[in-house]
Amino acid sequence: MPGMDNTPPPETEVVTETRVACDGGEGALGHPRVWLTIDGKTGWVECGYCDKRFVLSKDQG
Ligand SMILES: [Zn+2]
Repeated sequence: MPGMDNTPPPETEVVTETRVACDGGEGALGHPRVWLTIDGKTGWVECGYCDKRFVLSKDQG
């Protein structure tokens, strides 16, 4: 894979809905699926299992 130092562990995913599900993906980070709700004030939420951060897209209207 190209680039060795531009993918920091805390993953960030931009989503368009405030309700997202995370199961950690495949491999070592996998975990039971949990539903997360993005806080309208902060605009993001972090998964308690794998620390993945979901950021609400601001391109809505
Ligand atoms: Zn997760």
